[in-house]
Amino acid sequence: MNINISERLKKLPPYLFAELDQLKKREIAKGKDIIDLGVGDPDQPTPGYIVEELKKTAGNPANHKYSLSRGMDRLRSSIANWYENRFGVKLDPFKEILPLIGSKEGITNIPLAFINPGDVALVPDPCYPPYKSGTIFAGAKNYLLPLLEKNDFLPDLESIDKAVLTRAKMMFLNYPNNPTSAVAPPGFFDKVVALAAKNNIIVCHDAAYSEICFDDYKPTSFLEARGAKGVGVEFHSLSKTYNMTGWRIGFVCGNAEVIEGLRKIKTNIDSGIFQPIQFAGIRALEGRQDSIVEIRKIYQQRRDILLAGLDSIGWKFFKPRATFYVWMPVLPGYTSTELSRLFLEKLNIVVTPGVGFGKNGEGYIRMSLTVPTERLKEAVERIKKFN
Ligand SMILES: *Cc1c(COP(=O)(O)O)cnc(C)c1O
Repeated sequence: MNINISERLKKLPPYLFAELDQLKKREIAKGKDIIDLGVGDPDQPTPGYIVEELKKTAGNPANHKYSLSRGMDRLRSSIANWYENRFGVKLDPFKEILPLIGSKEGITNIPLAFINPGDVALVPDPCYPPYKSGTIFAGAKNYLLPLLEKNDFLPDLESIDKAVLTRAKMMFLNYPNNPTSAVAPPGFFDKVVALAAKNNIIVCHDAAYSEICFDDYKPTSFLEARGAKGVGVEFHSLSKTYNMTGWRIGFVCGNAEVIEGLRKIKTNIDSGIFQPIQFAGIRALEGRQDSIVEIRKIYQQRRDILLAGLDSIGWKFFKPRATFYVWMPVLPGYTSTELSRLFLEKLNIVVTPGVGFGKNGEGYIRMSLTVPTERLKEAVERIKKFN
């Protein structure tokens, strides 16, 4: 028999990390001491009191059953409290909040609720890959919003073709941004709201890095912008905030009709988050938030070590005010893939080529601050020696 993959799978952008993944495996097999600055996954453990809550609730048979797809009431109200404390935005825990099995789950499923085949979705480029795959799965044509250095890695909203705006149903945005580490300046979200309201476009803002910030910078939420709740939603994740990537818990909040659309999709696809993980999430959101302060301090220290190293040899970079990524222009004469290959073969350091996040990522590499400080110092030494 012939097994043929679907057109939607064929339409996904190519996976450009395959060659580097192979190369990395080969170098590790050779016994090389590889420093992996490629992963977007915190190296620090989940705070102990959150793990304890999982242990405590995992033994209760009442928590072993299917949970509700819309999440426990307690979880939704603790999300509402956390959100109001953090951003000063009030949310209705029943209509304006929906827990997710990680924000990636909601991001990839939400287009199914609002996109018809042939509709346009506005997607930033470079970007976190699920914006592209989720919209493609729903049958959308993606119109790319280039995130360019000359625009501080913000989309040029004025340059979007009028005909495209008329056909666009959804727009994805992400600040603080992965992979560029750019942040949204004051007033930016107001412009987004105006554009979305005028053209009837649902805004999906991904705020996964809202709590990973440095110096005196504190990211704002999209929903703080006047009128934002009328046009869109914001995705949040406990993954980066509480070092909980493997647990799979996040949430989306904002426009009630948009939330309800995603909820309908989800009730047909999943059966909720394992309840002990919901309890652990409640504990995380309601607990002392000093683990976040500690996490920020660690990443900031690492950022400063890496940037001081790059600075001392005259390499250019963009100093992140948020996220745990450093976005750096390639050295002259290299593509992002060539430079990543050089880093791996000559320095035994894994970095991510920008082109893997989309064509406008060409010309840059991304380095993660998710390795222990000592390893990062070692990476800096290798880079300096090589230079
Ligand atoms: C890590 C990350 C997420 C979080 O994904 P989860 O599914 O919640 O773990 C979302 N958006 C971006 C841009 C990310 O980098």
